[in-house]
Amino acid sequence: MTIFEVNSIEEGIKEYYGDSVTVLHSYTVGGGDINDANCLKLSNGELVFVKSNSITNKDFFVAEATSLNAIESTNSIKVPKLLFRGADSTSGKAFLAMEFVIEAPRVHNFSEKFGQSLASMHNADTSSFVSRGKYGFDTNNFIGATKQLNRPKDSWTDFFRECRIEPQFMMAEKYFDKTSIKKIIKLLDKLPDLLIEPKHPSLLHGDLWSGNYIVGSDGEAWLIDPAVYVGHAEADLAMTELFGRFPTAFYESYSFVNPIEPGYEDRRDLYNLYHMLNHLNLFGSSYHSAVIGIVNYYV
Ligand code: ADP
Repeated sequence: MTIFEVNSIEEGIKEYYGDSVTVLHSYTVGGGDINDANCLKLSNGELVFVKSNSITNKDFFVAEATSLNAIESTNSIKVPKLLFRGADSTSGKAFLAMEFVIEAPRVHNFSEKFGQSLASMHNADTSSFVSRGKYGFDTNNFIGATKQLNRPKDSWTDFFRECRIEPQFMMAEKYFDKTSIKKIIKLLDKLPDLLIEPKHPSLLHGDLWSGNYIVGSDGEAWLIDPAVYVGHAEADLAMTELFGRFPTAFYESYSFVNPIEPGYEDRRDLYNLYHMLNHLNLFGSSYHSAVIGIVNYYV
């Protein structure tokens, strides 16, 4: 997907749709954690979804567009079509515009189809995403508002330690006493025994909780708000279980296309430690006990 780079939302609408199309209304869309979101109703009847943030955060949207493009290139699961992005020095806002996904009722086999599509994405060739290693991604991105390091590595375990858990622990250091820090170091040293190298590398959505898919007009799951990288598919599955599990049919049909490896349940909370640490760093001490609970379970 090519994406226009423009200096204002108005310019983007003109570039994409032509001079005759104008914005009739703008509605606020709720539900996001990080950005402002609006639905623009255009004079040609189309709806456009626009995310915005302060101009200093314009890299959020460069990264999100790259992530959506990567998923789209696997031809496995739907994502909204990208329209334009840019930064407006007059309003002080950076923005990303994409197709507004109109929600519809779920098809009767929604979860089965979702599981199959995600497994196909996880089975897609990853060689174009990481040029100097097997795991990671060619550019860094963001998990929520936190910088996510994607430095390529040949070992998944090394990648998970050096680019996922260690940087988050370092950011969260002030929340831990000496005893906890000792345990955390022990956990990092134990990672090669606790994790496994995947059968094959997978492109991951990276932030796959239930708020990051929409049921589109076709009644199927569309992925939004990704933070992609190449890793072990289990890391995406683990996140689907973090804030309430997806339906059982999802995991059954997923496993039919990309079998879930034995021992996944023992590794699941370790993958989610990354997201719990990120929540601790972003939203504060209410996530401390969840982090300590996971550390104590493994050490
Ligand atoms: P944030 O980056 O702040 O977390 P999200 O990407 O989660 O924001 O989006 C905020 C809200 O907008 C959510 O309620 C989501 O369901 C909705 N949304 C996201 N993308 C689209 C889209 N392309 N079309 C329609 N609604 C969308």
